[in-house]
Amino acid sequence: MDMYKLAKELFPICRSLSGEGVRKSLAIIKREIPELVICHIPSGTKVFDWTIPREWIIHSAYIDKIGEDNTVERIIDFHDNNLHVIGYSTAVDEVVDLSELKKHIYVQESDEDAIPYVTSYYQENYGFCMSLKQKRELTEGMYHMFIDSEHINGNLSYGEVIIPGESSQEVLLSTYICHPSMANDNLSGVCVTTALCQYIKSLPERKYTYRILYLPETIGAITYLSQHLEYLQQHVIAGYVLTCVGDSATYSYVASRYGDTLSDKIAQNVLHYHAPEYKSYSYLRRGSDERQYCAPGIDLPVCVICRSKFHEYAEYHTSKDDLSYISPEGLQGALDVYKQCVDLLEHNKVYLTTVLGEPQLGRRGLYPNVSKKGIYSSARVIQNFLAYADGKNDLIDISNMIETPAFELITIAGILKQNSLIREVEKDAE
Ligand code: ZN
Repeated sequence: MDMYKLAKELFPICRSLSGEGVRKSLAIIKREIPELVICHIPSGTKVFDWTIPREWIIHSAYIDKIGEDNTVERIIDFHDNNLHVIGYSTAVDEVVDLSELKKHIYVQESDEDAIPYVTSYYQENYGFCMSLKQKRELTEGMYHMFIDSEHINGNLSYGEVIIPGESSQEVLLSTYICHPSMANDNLSGVCVTTALCQYIKSLPERKYTYRILYLPETIGAITYLSQHLEYLQQHVIAGYVLTCVGDSATYSYVASRYGDTLSDKIAQNVLHYHAPEYKSYSYLRRGSDERQYCAPGIDLPVCVICRSKFHEYAEYHTSKDDLSYISPEGLQGALDVYKQCVDLLEHNKVYLTTVLGEPQLGRRGLYPNVSKKGIYSSARVIQNFLAYADGKNDLIDISNMIETPAFELITIAGILKQNSLIREVEKDAE
């Protein structure tokens, strides 16, 4: 699957918390993942402390300048860029002067060319977004503000894929589908999640069951949790929120609430070796659905790995977060990191050495006949692995202790198992 091509296809669709844009996007994802089940929960349904809002339908929106001789000059049009209207705007049809118009215009103060992404989901409001430059260029006169929108009782729609494994224990992967035309936040999340889903499906064997969710942010996660909480708490052993994974600038990690889950441990190990310069953020810098998954009483082991983190890049929530901000390489880098997380989760076992004292590696062809520096180092990794295979440490613990990437230890563990030098055990509780 070509992730960038998928982003390009999804980019023009006007998405919101619910409605046609979301359903159209889910239908495209289902083409890539036929197992995707699309669920609909009616507006008005109580979900924890929230209520599912009505669907927003927008037909058209624009601002026209009315000239002296009644000529009309179009200033902005929703059909040119769906960021021009505040998400969830109520309808308006009014002619106003410039000072009144300006009260309904939102701009990005930090960048005079960018159109900001603004929503007003939970408070009735309407408004327009344009670049600061365009706002500055508006001249005195009369303007026609027009938004043709409705709010109807409909559904909140989300997509769910369950990929079964040997165990009913689960890994949760969650991304959001409510943002309109922006690429890093969060079409990149949708595309990398879809490619990762295909990777997981392709694995010849899977220990864990994978639960993959495409939800509107916040309200979607809350809705899903309100309906599946107990099951998730009993089965989810690790999870990630996939967001902002398409640019090439950097890698970032946002910890779970206490930063001490298996997901955190895996993410840190993978990033430490894949992108040692990665930026690490505590839960105080949270911003996406980890806010729901990690909330007190929910307490699912979920953290975030992204590239340039939400709120931390200048293009964030503006028209400049477009397809030129992300790249096939950026998406691929994030996919590689997440694939490694899956591989480590699948192989993260606790091992116990089967011999007393050091085993004789040479007899098994695991030790170089001639002690030479280069060759010797791989034997040293084997010896180090065995030194900590005492039933107390999982693969990641050993990796951290012997300063060798966990993904390399997967191979070593395989060789040692083949030679009956280690066996899998339940973790020693001490
Ligand atoms: Zn966002």
